[in-house]
Amino acid sequence: MTPLPFDNSYARLPDRFFARVRPEPPPDPSLIRLNAELAALMGIDTGWLASPEGLAMLSGRTLPGEADSIAMAYAGHQFGGWVPQLGDGRALLLGEVVGKDGVRRDIQLKGSGRTPFSRAGDGKAPLGPVLREYIVSEAMAALGVPTTRALAAVTTGETVYREGPLPGAVLTRVARSHVRVGTFQYFHARQDRDGVRALADYTLARHYPDAAESARPYLDLFAGVIRRQARLVARWMGFGFIHGVMNTDNTQVAGETIDYGPCAFMEAFHPGMVFSSIDHAGRYAWANQPLIAEWNLARLAETLLPLFDDDPDRALEKARETLARFRPQCSDSMVAIFGRKLGLDENGPENGTFIESTFTTLSSNHVDFTQFFRQLTRIADRDGNDGTPGNNVGRREGDGTASPDNAVDVLRGLFDTATDADHWLAEWRQRIESGTTPRPVRITAMKRENPVLIPRNHRVEEAIRDAMAGDYGPFHRLVEALASPFSDRPAVQDLEQPARPEERVHRTFCGT
Ligand code: AMP
Ligand code: MG
Repeated sequence: MTPLPFDNSYARLPDRFFARVRPEPPPDPSLIRLNAELAALMGIDTGWLASPEGLAMLSGRTLPGEADSIAMAYAGHQFGGWVPQLGDGRALLLGEVVGKDGVRRDIQLKGSGRTPFSRAGDGKAPLGPVLREYIVSEAMAALGVPTTRALAAVTTGETVYREGPLPGAVLTRVARSHVRVGTFQYFHARQDRDGVRALADYTLARHYPDAAESARPYLDLFAGVIRRQARLVARWMGFGFIHGVMNTDNTQVAGETIDYGPCAFMEAFHPGMVFSSIDHAGRYAWANQPLIAEWNLARLAETLLPLFDDDPDRALEKARETLARFRPQCSDSMVAIFGRKLGLDENGPENGTFIESTFTTLSSNHVDFTQFFRQLTRIADRDGNDGTPGNNVGRREGDGTASPDNAVDVLRGLFDTATDADHWLAEWRQRIESGTTPRPVRITAMKRENPVLIPRNHRVEEAIRDAMAGDYGPFHRLVEALASPFSDRPAVQDLEQPARPEERVHRTFCGT
């Protein structure tokens, strides 16, 4: 019986694209969590996945015959510095499966041992980063952000050594592919034009079939990657997500979020917010993300120039013209997203200005980003229900419970200065009232755009801490709650709350 209908298109590319490697069998694997919903979407039998044979695959102990495990070659710019060879140093692509939805997806083990690209690393993953990626990538998927996903997490029964001994684990990552900007750079840097072309053709066929049919496929490929990156980064911005390591090797050309290292969702809003312990200059701060994405796309363009035009000057001109689309696409998407978050009219002429001034107010008042939009949604939902907008302004501080009656109080409480909240709310109401969007349309848009739950950093760390002590309860609870981030459920109301000062997470780590 074929447990998994693998079809490994990447492994059919030329040998220099990867190294064939088997995982290192772990001593005592044990399943932490299986993503049955994702397995079903991929057409994988969950029963098989949960069987000893399935666990053997998920831990890298033994692979089904159809798997053809490879470590992919890639290079990249890390924090702006060129690294000619990176590659899968602790990951192995087992193969691809085409799901019920017709989508081809990679199944990759992360933390399954050394490869020719491991350099000084051990190829292993500690439990903490595996749980972190599981929680955050699945939360992103539930928020509707294009992302790699987590099919399973297992412990290996092995100790890995970082600052000290840590339990080892393996994450099974699922992605539309693992082709990165850095994969193109790998061949370009070796002046391997055939390699770049083969990779571009592969990417066209797999991710941009419409561009493949066009009269200028490579330029349309570039335009397609630009479009998806612009939308992706705008989505990140709208959820207060900070990727943390936007290196070109962590920029996937299919347009999914990839590499959940030191990422974080900000709590108190600040455009310059950075969490990563290694991002000293704030290169990958929240507000820099569009600029960095554009920089990464310019690096992709460099690799494709000879495919754009035989004449180098013409090629450069075409690349520049195409790349120029990124900024307006990304900022238009951002304005549209924040417009919906605020309940503004679509394409309102002053939306951009109002959004900017909102950012200034939120930032100077250290307002919790997610709670702000969440409470605003509740206010919008209440306003007009009894025909009296803002009838609860000026009520006394609420009792802390989240009944719709005190949404204004809760919102005011998020600001350092309540009068700033009142001024902002007055301006916002004026806009809403003079707008033309029908109320139900506005409320629906706000509810869809403003999550109740995000993976708050202190909750993620708490789940990891408890798991390390043997209690996976908080991890499972968090994953399950985050699967429905837009629904209001009293049972998980505690997960909505921002960290108290003593719980606040200021730094995040790659933990590789
Ligand atoms: P990342 O910071 O996760 O994007 O990884 C950057 C590079 O370091 C990639 O080539 C990884 O494969 C490699 N790497 C990260 N952790 C390890 C590890 N534990 N062992 C071997 N290689 C690693
Ligand atoms: Mg990476």
